[in-house]
Amino acid sequence: MAKYIFVTGGVTSSLGKGIIAASLAKLLQARGLTVTIQKLDPYINIDPGTLNPYEHGECYVTEDGAETDLDLGHYERFLNTYTSQANNVTTGRIYQTVINKERNGDFLGKTVQVVPHITDEIKRRMLLLGKTKEFDIVITEIGGTVGDIESLPFIEAVRQLQWELPEDRVMVIHLTLVPYLKAAKELKTKPTQHSVKMLSETGVHPDVLVCRTEEPLGNDIKRKIALFCNVKQEAVIEAMDASTIYEVPLLMLREKLDIICLKKLKITEYKEPNLDKWKVYLDKLKYPKSKVTIGLIGKYIELQDAYKSILESFIHAGAMNEVKVEVVNVHSEFITEHNVAEKLDNLDGLLVAPGFGTRGIDGKIIAVKYARETGMPFFGICLGMQMAVIEFARNVLGLTGAHSTEMEPTTSDPVINMMEEQKKIKMMGGTMRLGAYPCQVVKGSLAHTIYGKIDISERHRHRYEFNNDYLEQFEANGMKATGVNPDSGLVEIIEIPEHPFFIGVQYHPELKSTVESPAPLFVSFIAAAKEHNEKNSNVKAGTLRDSLI
Ligand code: GLN
Repeated sequence: MAKYIFVTGGVTSSLGKGIIAASLAKLLQARGLTVTIQKLDPYINIDPGTLNPYEHGECYVTEDGAETDLDLGHYERFLNTYTSQANNVTTGRIYQTVINKERNGDFLGKTVQVVPHITDEIKRRMLLLGKTKEFDIVITEIGGTVGDIESLPFIEAVRQLQWELPEDRVMVIHLTLVPYLKAAKELKTKPTQHSVKMLSETGVHPDVLVCRTEEPLGNDIKRKIALFCNVKQEAVIEAMDASTIYEVPLLMLREKLDIICLKKLKITEYKEPNLDKWKVYLDKLKYPKSKVTIGLIGKYIELQDAYKSILESFIHAGAMNEVKVEVVNVHSEFITEHNVAEKLDNLDGLLVAPGFGTRGIDGKIIAVKYARETGMPFFGICLGMQMAVIEFARNVLGLTGAHSTEMEPTTSDPVINMMEEQKKIKMMGGTMRLGAYPCQVVKGSLAHTIYGKIDISERHRHRYEFNNDYLEQFEANGMKATGVNPDSGLVEIIEIPEHPFFIGVQYHPELKSTVESPAPLFVSFIAAAKEHNEKNSNVKAGTLRDSLI
């Protein structure tokens, strides 16, 4: 029978509950247990699919096409296993289920209330993945901070489960902050005490406290926290700020977080964790041999989380190539014909990001043109691929009015068009082309070299597509469709074989990049950028030598 670990957060948001949950899961997985992680989010949206990236960061898409919280990306990147729709539940989804049941007459005349009806539905979702018999352990991260009004029903559900399930099937980890006051040169435990007190008032008692801190806690502080918060000293875990999130599993291993959980859950069969692969990866990440600079052209660049999976994919691909990938955010709204060379000249590669709507489109097209003409490695994802198609249509095929019907519904040349099945859809939420679809790559193409096979599968999130009416014209002039969906004929990959590295994909390869299997497209793109950088430095060195002679 599956065992359940709940992770709550206190004091402040952004303490990294997702990373702690993923790190613990990684350790338990390395000890031979099957683990999954789910996230319960206390907002009313059914899913984050309709949220602006400025509000909530990237929307992560799973294999089965669920639009989910970006923490699920961390779970997959750490565990190298897939999550699904069931791994992300919001208050909105809980209420929707309960209200649908009420309309159906399922409550037989009863008054429908937060307790027990909403909490029952929350508990059902909390236990669901454990019932599949696929997992020894289900870790549930509760979004928000203890004390928030909106997370109360979730905390109440945890309280009920702490009573209902046998002691060795449930435990609670509370993540808090132990701030360091520079002026006093002291770590302060009071916020942690208050936060645990607040959690205890709801009837939930934490078994483990994970304390985020800038300075080592030391035994005295641990003892003090244990005493005031009523947990064992060994269950006070120090979570020091790390230079990379990928170091956290090793920090948690050192603090024995996994052992404490195994003990509390009375799990006796486990092995010594083998984290050799992880350590090799971490080593390459921390000690790169050289550096490449990639321009990320997007419109949400002010917010780190908006392109989370892309940035993490760069980290994975950088480690594979033993280079540090420095990402320079370039706001597409501020790129013009006049400043493009100055803005992009020093880069080793260009990634044009996914996105929606008209803002910043012109800058993206100008950036693509620059990469195409100068031979700079280019990688376009989703909207980025569509921009590459538009640029080629306008500047190579001479279709000066070419556009996507997303931005210009009456364009003379709709080279990017709305997908047929999308045309009848009126509702916005969960209605895009979502999740994994097969794709067949053309033998001998760059994509074929990169993937090393013909049949691939990648995840999607879009409404528009390449317009096949123009395919012949594109191919005759040097832009090839090298990946096509075998069932629908939709173009998924475009390339310019004449260019050193020019590839655009309609799907999102960043959603499948993990520490153990980095996305091949990112790995090759970084390799191309490295080559570009070396060639450029040789040219520059040559010019310098010539000028000295
Ligand atoms: N807006 C484009 C579409 O819907 C691209 C979407 C994306 O980049 N994810 O097709």
